[in-house]
Amino acid sequence: MLNKTYRTLRLILGDQLNASHSWFNNSHPQTNGEKKPNEVLYLIAELHQEALYVKHHIHKLCAFFSAMENFAHALIKSGHHVCYLTLDDTQNDKDLPSLIHRLCKQFSIEEFEYQRPDEYRLSQQLETFSSKSEWVCNQVESEHFLLPFADIQQHFKPNKTVRMEAFYRKMRKKYCILMQDNGEPVQGQWNFDQQNRNKLKPQNLEDIPEPLTFQNSVEHILERIHRHQIPYLGQPEKNLIWPNSRQQSKALLTFFCSNLLVNFGRFQDAMTDQSAYAWSLYHSRLSFALNSKMLSPMQVIKAALQTYQDNQEISMAQIEGFIRQILGWREYVRGMYWVNMPDYTQQNQLQAKQALPSFFWDGNTKMHCVSQSIKQSLDYAYAHHIQRLMVTGNFCLLAGIDPKEVDQWYLGIYIDAIEWVELPNTRSMSQFADNWVASKPYAASGNYIQKMSSYCSNCHYKVKQKTGDLACPFNSLYWHFINKHREKLASNPRMSMIYRNWDKQSEEDRSAILNKANDVFNSLNTL
Ligand code: FAD
Ligand code: SF4
Repeated sequence: MLNKTYRTLRLILGDQLNASHSWFNNSHPQTNGEKKPNEVLYLIAELHQEALYVKHHIHKLCAFFSAMENFAHALIKSGHHVCYLTLDDTQNDKDLPSLIHRLCKQFSIEEFEYQRPDEYRLSQQLETFSSKSEWVCNQVESEHFLLPFADIQQHFKPNKTVRMEAFYRKMRKKYCILMQDNGEPVQGQWNFDQQNRNKLKPQNLEDIPEPLTFQNSVEHILERIHRHQIPYLGQPEKNLIWPNSRQQSKALLTFFCSNLLVNFGRFQDAMTDQSAYAWSLYHSRLSFALNSKMLSPMQVIKAALQTYQDNQEISMAQIEGFIRQILGWREYVRGMYWVNMPDYTQQNQLQAKQALPSFFWDGNTKMHCVSQSIKQSLDYAYAHHIQRLMVTGNFCLLAGIDPKEVDQWYLGIYIDAIEWVELPNTRSMSQFADNWVASKPYAASGNYIQKMSSYCSNCHYKVKQKTGDLACPFNSLYWHFINKHREKLASNPRMSMIYRNWDKQSEEDRSAILNKANDVFNSLNTL
């Protein structure tokens, strides 16, 4: 039961489900002194603007709304006052500022507080609201990331290249993770990436553990989504397999540490279509729990390090490979995002302009690797990193798809897709739309996909062929990409061998490959 009036309204966005936030602990300095629970009203709202800013996967919509509902229940249970608004309750609010305005009036609020949003879009909206508002407005930190927001400028500069590896080493030192007392990394090596590139052999397939999934009923949420005609991707399911509470998120973390960490690095880049668990393999699937802040990155790192210490079977290459993703990549992309927004969304150095092929929406293509990766993404709202980077991302890069369209697809389809993490991964890493992140484009022919997966043996196309009706489209597109971007790429020392190989081929072979690429471009939607 809510009071008629409150002194403070505190907004909790759908990706701010951090139960350890100092807001919920009145003695912490960020709370600006003691506030009694009955003076503070927490607002958690299903917003139409958030459901509509991109076409989301239906599992993603359900996962966020379901986790928000649970978070609200947990807060109420611990004595906080919470106003939870459904899509029904917010249907007449034009946007988030209008809703805040309405509630501030309704509850005679004196001050409005919000946690720093991770997305530029929401940050702008709330800053504008605060600057014009008749209420006292305070922004506090979200207390989630390992690199404080105020330190981002020290490590990253707008429109400048920063390499992940250099940043990661600083973070290892700062948090003293996998370090010796003399300031050197344990085992004298920072990076064990070379040991993390194994293919799954037939004898490895039986050992892949069945993934831990949940059965969270979301029927009531689906009804609301349908009632409000929110467009979505994928098929609705009555039960959600993704964690929707802190407790389930912790269970997923424990499951990862006990069953998957032992092989995480080893098969990190592997892809297969030969297992019922091909979609999950040894990946943690913690990205939704982390990005919604139900888990903190330090909590995940500590759990993984503890498991490494307790389990002799886990090698340094496995634990380092995992720590690098959380302490390195995840914090790094957030830094790159914030120093480069809003310019990030305009980057397109390769001037890619093609429309996204229609098979991205249903997976209906004869390219088995692409079909498997897209169908899996539609089924689970999930694909692992190499499927995103080296199959769908690589295809878009080689085919010159407009990065705006690529962004919209990645931002909509994945359970973990929030712009601060999606944009640098898509624009920079996978589409090479700027020079800030990758030292060379992640462009590869069918050969790479064959090396890392079992896809090619079940494909309509022949991975060894560059020309002819059955030639793997990745091959001619790859050489077309290399040829087209010579001016930009040939001076890059990491590309020189590739240009030598291209130039070594006869004039006749080169033009046959480029002609084949033109055929591929002419039939992009029906490959
Ligand atoms: P694991 O393979 O188990 O890795 C563990 C954790 O490390 C992840 O949960 C994630 O938090 C972190 N991590 C790993 N790689 C990255 C990375 N490159 N950037 C940031 N964090 C990383 N990740 C998202 O969270 N949201 C996105 O919208 C997103 N979009 C992507 C788009 C493209 C084109 C590419 C190539 C990658 C994208 N990633 C994104 C990064 C990565 O693919 C996912 O974090 C990962 O697949 C999530 O699955 P997992 O939890 O099983 O990860
Ligand atoms: Fe993909 Fe080419 Fe292999 Fe087919 S042959 S699975 S299109 S890489």
